[in-house]
Amino acid sequence: MQKIKFQRVLLKLGGEALADKNRQGISASAVREIASEVKQVKQLGVELGIVVGGGNIVRGRTAEDMRISRVAVDYMGMLATVINALALQDVLEKKGVFTRVLSAIDMARIAEPYIRRRAIRHLEKGRIVIMAAGTGNPYFTTDTAAVLRAIEIKAEVILKGTKVDGVYSADPLKEPKAKRFTRLTYFEVLKRRLQVMDTTAISLCMDHRLPIIVFNLRKRGNLKKILQGEKIGTIVGEE
Ligand code: UDP
Repeated sequence: MQKIKFQRVLLKLGGEALADKNRQGISASAVREIASEVKQVKQLGVELGIVVGGGNIVRGRTAEDMRISRVAVDYMGMLATVINALALQDVLEKKGVFTRVLSAIDMARIAEPYIRRRAIRHLEKGRIVIMAAGTGNPYFTTDTAAVLRAIEIKAEVILKGTKVDGVYSADPLKEPKAKRFTRLTYFEVLKRRLQVMDTTAISLCMDHRLPIIVFNLRKRGNLKKILQGEKIGTIVGEE
C-alpha cells in the first residue's frame, strides 16, 4: 500500500460540486467525476467520511425569497442533502466502492440513522460513510455538520473541496489580482471574514484544533495528492 499522510479524513462536498453549469440540480457527469476522485482515495486505504451539502437544490438563505418560513426551508435543505447523498452513493457503488449513507434525520427506507459508533465501524470496515441531512437541526449549515462529524469520528483533517485553488484575499473569479494564501490561522479567517466556512464551523474547528484544507476539487488528482502529503490549496490551522 502507498504511503499516506492521513488515515481518516472528512471530505466536505458542497451541493454545487454535484451541480450543472448553472449551479443547480444534479449533473451526472459532475457526480461521476467526484466519484472517480473518491475511488482513487479509497484505493490508497484512507478511511473517508463525506458530508454533502444541498445548496444545488435548496438553501435556507433563500427562505425569504421563497416566502416559506426559514425552519421549513432549512428542513427542505437537509432533505436536499439526502438527495445528493443517494446520487453519490449510487455512482460510487457502480464503481465498486462500498458505501453507507447515514442520515441525521431518520429515513429508515433509504438510509441508516446517523449513529457515531456505527459510522466509525463502517469506516474501519473500509466503507465510505456519506453523512446526510446536515446536523438534523435548522439554522445550521452543512459546513458546521462537516466539522461536527469530523470531530465525532476523530478525523485528522477536513478537506473542503471548492471550485478554486484555495482561500484568496478576494473572489479570484471576479478579482484577478486576488492573492492566494497557503496558510491561515482560524483567527485570521474569522477576522478577515474570508470565505472558508461559516463562523460557527470555523469556531468549532478552532476549539478542537481540527485543520481544514481548502482545495480545488475540479483539478483531477488533487484529492489523492493531498492524502499523499502534497501541499495543495490553503491550510487553515493554529499559529
Ligand atoms: N441545513 C440545516 N441544518 C444543517 C445543515 C443544512 O438547516 O445542519 C439546511 C440549510 O438551509 C442549508 C441547506 O440545508 O442552507 C443546504 O445546506 P448548505 O447550504 O450547507 O449546502 P452547501 O452550501 O454545502 O451546498
